[in-house]
Amino acid sequence: MNDKTGKLIVISAPSGTGKTTVVKRLLEKEPNMVASVSFTTRPMRENEIDGVDYFFVDKGSFKHMINEGEFLEHATVFDNYYGTQKKIVSNNLQRGLNVILEIDWQGAQQIRGEISDCVMIFLIPPSKKVLLSRLKNRGTDSEEEIENRFNQAVLDLSESSKFDHVLVNDQLDAAVENIVLCIKGNASKATQPIKVDQALKSFSETN
Ligand code: 5GP
Repeated sequence: MNDKTGKLIVISAPSGTGKTTVVKRLLEKEPNMVASVSFTTRPMRENEIDGVDYFFVDKGSFKHMINEGEFLEHATVFDNYYGTQKKIVSNNLQRGLNVILEIDWQGAQQIRGEISDCVMIFLIPPSKKVLLSRLKNRGTDSEEEIENRFNQAVLDLSESSKFDHVLVNDQLDAAVENIVLCIKGNASKATQPIKVDQALKSFSETN
């Protein structure tokens, strides 16, 4: 992964934080930025397009790619494999594009070990209540899946301290603006410690 000219930006967030919407808005707003399309073994959801949302592959093909060393990082999330292909990232970086990786915290830690000058952002929902309602409103998952995702999201929050920046996704435009500030090295203008503290506190409360 040498010769890169663009910047690598890692955005992680617990499921239900609204990360996909934030990244979509970021791409509309910022020229010169692309999101890397990951490979996954999870079934395609309604409204998803192969090659746009993900490259949907079976477990055998995914394992073959691991053995061939094709992934920059890969992880198992909710019993499915997800991975970022090295080739996709390096091609875009060499074209001078800033590349966004929308990946889970396990993958983010692997990237950190591999590429030191990336920007690592962890997005969190404003509260436990908002997270639960976002997970329910997606309408794509069963009750059991929602519960799994909620419990996993709460666990994932403890990983936030390993990131360069922790931001709250409360208002979409503000979240996007804050991410842009972090990417451009102006994080001090974006910090929102009170909101982050309040959000994290809400998750440690029992109700
Ligand atoms: P979903 O199935 O809801 O699209 O994604 C589930 C989780 O997998 C999300 O946290 C998402 O960020 C993460 N994810 C998506 N692509 C990748 C990837 O390439 N690598 C890793 N490590 N995680 C990914």
